[in-house]
Amino acid sequence: MIYRGRIAPSPTGLLHLGHARTFYTAYLRAIRAGGTLVLRNEDLDPHRSRLGFAAAMLEDLRWLGIRWQEGPDVGGPFAPYAQSLRREHYLAVWRRLSSAGYLYPCTCSRRELARIAEAPHEASAPPSASARFEADETPMYPKTCRPAADSPPPAGYDAPAGVNWRFRVPDGEAIEFADGRFGPQRFVAGKDFGDFPVWRRDDVPAYQLAVVADDHDMQITEVVRGADLLLSTARQILLYRALGWNLPAWYHCPLVLDEHGERLAKRYDALSIRALRAQGKRPAEVLGESPAKRELL
Ligand code: GLU
Repeated sequence: MIYRGRIAPSPTGLLHLGHARTFYTAYLRAIRAGGTLVLRNEDLDPHRSRLGFAAAMLEDLRWLGIRWQEGPDVGGPFAPYAQSLRREHYLAVWRRLSSAGYLYPCTCSRRELARIAEAPHEASAPPSASARFEADETPMYPKTCRPAADSPPPAGYDAPAGVNWRFRVPDGEAIEFADGRFGPQRFVAGKDFGDFPVWRRDDVPAYQLAVVADDHDMQITEVVRGADLLLSTARQILLYRALGWNLPAWYHCPLVLDEHGERLAKRYDALSIRALRAQGKRPAEVLGESPAKRELL
């Protein structure tokens, strides 16, 4: 099998040190396998993506010495390589999942869900009520809109807009996979994560659906990304399975933490690649402590 990897930055801010190291790992793994690296611009969310950040991220990646063979700037057999231009692919996936009965419409607002998760337990709540938070600490969906198991697929929707859509997870089932960096992983559906969104009411496809559609369409064989997405891999495995698609391999990179153990994402500006460049740092210094380099070279 010919190795096809990808780097998939979102143009919602400046790339920081954590991104640099994850993307450099992806680059090295593609080189080591003699494969192809795809750059995909994950500008899925029109409210958060900025053209200026998309241009900056390509420039920062090049400055780091990362090279890709397919992408928005160079084209390739699976163009377009920007998620904002791939809506038809996502709609086709939504239609398949929806008509096969995997999805249901949900009218709960994010604010309402946060309130339910944080409210003190009702005395009347059954002790078996599932966890209130997912393994990554986001509120667990309390199944408010989930229809009964034997309900027919929702009728009357020929397009997803106007309501949120969720994927119904198989409660109690353990989703297992072998991660190339962290080894065996196991997450239990309905306990570690609940019914997750695949399409937003403002008509934006959700990350889980878009990334699975793209990784499949672009024939990606290994997904290299940050360890913050380990739990999402379990969700995505359910989507692959529902769609009857082969799974890629996964390699999740350790997150870069600051001296307080906080993720760098929260300190965007100080450790953005831009800021490090402005301080006169060279690419080798930015990547200096890269676990990727230690492990792979
Ligand atoms: N676009 C996502 C991010 O920038 C990465 C998604 C992925 O690699 O699956 O965090």
